[in-house]
Amino acid sequence: MARKFNFSAGPAMLPTAVMERAQQEMLEWNGSGMSVMEMSHRGKEYMSIATKAEKDLRDVMSIPDNYKVLFLQGGASSQFAMVPLNLLGDKDSADYINTGIWSKKAIAEAKRFCNVNIAADTSGDGFTTVPTQAELKLNPDAAYVHYTPNETIAGVEFDYIPETGGVPLVADMSSTILSRPIDVSKFAMIYAGAQKNIGPAGLAIVIIREDLLGKAAEKTPAMFNYKTHADGGSMYNTPATYSWYMAGLVFEWIKEQGGLTAMGEVNHRKADKLYAVIDSSDFYANPVPTNARSWMNVTFTLADPELDAAFLAGAAENGLITLKGHRSVGGMRASIYNAMPEEGVDALVAYMQKFEKNQR
Ligand SMILES: *Cc1c(COP(=O)(O)O)cnc(C)c1O
Repeated sequence: MARKFNFSAGPAMLPTAVMERAQQEMLEWNGSGMSVMEMSHRGKEYMSIATKAEKDLRDVMSIPDNYKVLFLQGGASSQFAMVPLNLLGDKDSADYINTGIWSKKAIAEAKRFCNVNIAADTSGDGFTTVPTQAELKLNPDAAYVHYTPNETIAGVEFDYIPETGGVPLVADMSSTILSRPIDVSKFAMIYAGAQKNIGPAGLAIVIIREDLLGKAAEKTPAMFNYKTHADGGSMYNTPATYSWYMAGLVFEWIKEQGGLTAMGEVNHRKADKLYAVIDSSDFYANPVPTNARSWMNVTFTLADPELDAAFLAGAAENGLITLKGHRSVGGMRASIYNAMPEEGVDALVAYMQKFEKNQR
């Protein structure tokens, strides 16, 4: 049995070294006589795992001390509701930048709670671009500005952090968190579902500035209130203990690789290699302008869509799997998060060149 290069957009590959470590520790963790899955979340063993995971994430992302890190359940999608519930305070309107399918979902959910001002909308060009700073129609009275730095489905990524003139900036970083260094202090809140670049699905990480806590609407359920989780160390109820542990192993692995600077270098190179092969021929195409191309989700189409099935079948024979694009956009998508080794990208590039040659 061999592990293949899995280009899934999420749940995505995890580093092999992390999986091997988890395998070694599966039945019995560090002399405790039990599996991490069987531990009390309040016991000293699990507390040491949880604390270390948070500390390693703080180190890796250089998270300032005035931010809380929360390990929550319900994936990124729960955040679509939790953000307005917690951050509106006494305001009745929020700004949303609409750059794709994930932005749209966040917007639909926010509309249950407040007036949504669409600060920019790229649906007109099929969500293949990002708006410039000058194009953002921001409302200075908004409770917050929400955007999706990397749109996982179309493969579009902001090449700048929006300037909001002091209005809290909230980012759904599900598919780009940990891909390179970022300045956390530019954000009021960052959230991410784990299954792209962090660990197993179900877990969501929230990084929130402390002054934003305690403003939740009165009827906010306890489980949906960030303050509940901040006060309880993300242990108000039983957290997703095993996913949290796995995330901790991933953070440790990132540190060993040289942190986010090293991750960013490899990721940039991986993406460049794929876009280079796409751009070098008219056999493949990607509609996204260079400045807005995602490092994590590289989408491309074949000039002749009749060849899609043969392309995918041949790729699978070469151990390159899950390359089919999202049903809403078609074509192909290669998701190349941190755990996709550079050799996986090299193998895909070689396959793409060979497939093209064989068709001519
Ligand atoms: C995957 C993804 C989500 C959804 O995550 P869930 O954990 O399934 O809720 C939200 N936003 C973005 C940008 C994503 O890539």
